[in-house]
Amino acid sequence: MVKQKTPVQKNEMINLTFEDLTHDGDGVGKVNGYPIFVPYALPGEKAKVKVIKVKKKFGFGKLLHIDEVSDERVEPPCDVYIQCGGCQLQHMSYAMQLEMKRNQVINTLRKIGHIENIPVHPTIGMDDPWRYRNKVQIPVRYRHGELITGFYRKRSHDIIEGMDRCVITAEINDRMVEAVRRMADRLGITAYDEEKHAGVLRHIMVRTGQETGETMIVLVTRTEDFSYKQELVKELHETYPQIKSIVQNINKEKTNVILGKKTKVLWGAEYIYDNIGDIQFAISAKSFYQVNPPQTKKLYDKALEYADLTGGETVIDAYCGIGTISLFLAQKAKKVYGVEIVPEAIEDAKKNAQLNHIDNTEFYVGEAEKIMPWWTAQGLSPDVIVVDPPRKGCDEALLEAMLTMKPDRIVYVSCNPSTLARDLKILEEGGYKTKQVQPVDMFPQTAHVECVAEIVRK
Ligand code: SAH
Repeated sequence: MVKQKTPVQKNEMINLTFEDLTHDGDGVGKVNGYPIFVPYALPGEKAKVKVIKVKKKFGFGKLLHIDEVSDERVEPPCDVYIQCGGCQLQHMSYAMQLEMKRNQVINTLRKIGHIENIPVHPTIGMDDPWRYRNKVQIPVRYRHGELITGFYRKRSHDIIEGMDRCVITAEINDRMVEAVRRMADRLGITAYDEEKHAGVLRHIMVRTGQETGETMIVLVTRTEDFSYKQELVKELHETYPQIKSIVQNINKEKTNVILGKKTKVLWGAEYIYDNIGDIQFAISAKSFYQVNPPQTKKLYDKALEYADLTGGETVIDAYCGIGTISLFLAQKAKKVYGVEIVPEAIEDAKKNAQLNHIDNTEFYVGEAEKIMPWWTAQGLSPDVIVVDPPRKGCDEALLEAMLTMKPDRIVYVSCNPSTLARDLKILEEGGYKTKQVQPVDMFPQTAHVECVAEIVRK
């Protein structure tokens, strides 16, 4: 087979003008119509690029020198931005990040969903788009005679050395990680050795309620018993009064999964508390909890607005997780039914309903696509359905079930514009109309975009 000739060759040095951005935030420049994706390049820039990979329809390049710098380029505050890869947009002004996310939603809706001419509102951002993450989980290793912590280098299990902060993580969590590392090191607690599957401390996980300031420390260890455990626990809570809970999670497996099955409270409470709006949440070591509660509040306020409840409605919250949206909705609806596949999440949802004295919710464990047809058979007829599926979007059977149930409105919360667009197309073909879409920036400095869509019956 004759190999088709591409306009550029591997290892070639070229001059490129950037016009656009990919969904991952890479710059896109073209040579005779052939797109080349270059990380860290911005639209409007001209740069020298080394071609590093050539495919039939597109290639990849490495930024060597920027000859014309965009006004939107900013200095990334993180020392290990390039090595880490956890953030993709720190070199871009925040205004441009918000604009990029909105454009991504507009373009994806048009290309995949054939949805045009509807309002896609400007992305709701944060006033201060740094230090927002309320949770950190960081690996521990032994190097140069001491314990070290740090994220893995991109696509590796090699810890980035000298990393003592993460600029998108709450400062208190950075400090707690450092405190555990220092104390464990001084006491002589060993770090996990991945190759030999030996040693003790695998990960340090810290979660702090932003509103309450309560901190939980989770020590993820290979063995249940280890020397100096009690000393570490005592020193930690005696030194830092904001620590309300110290938990051990035991992970004996040779695995990349961070948490093991067994958790036990070593000191203090089993839960810490935090609020999103008026709703209080009890969070255990293994609970899912939104990492950016203030933005979550803005997202769910929009979902509530689009649900347009007056107090008499029956609502279904599919993929309800720990019931965050359900509890928001319940304050304005007659009854909310939540369904979720993870049993522990449903237990949290029920507990959180009780905690907030909300008694018009019912939560079920199961696959939403199976429970919803069963509800229909039981005669349940919702006025509003809210869905908040994982990245792969709604199951087809669930979309079918929604079309059979014929609610007046559907509110779709999505963390992936591509699957949102695909599913909206199916709903539009089934007699619904997308009225508006609101992107919300839940994860500043990263390429993730979250949005909520209002969908009504034609
Ligand atoms: N709104 C939720 C989070 C939703 S994330 C909250 O605030 O807690 C998506 C959820 O869908 C996850 O909790 C995941 O466990 C759940 N899920 C995935 N597949 C599912 C399925 N087939 N049926 C029901 N729930 C599912």
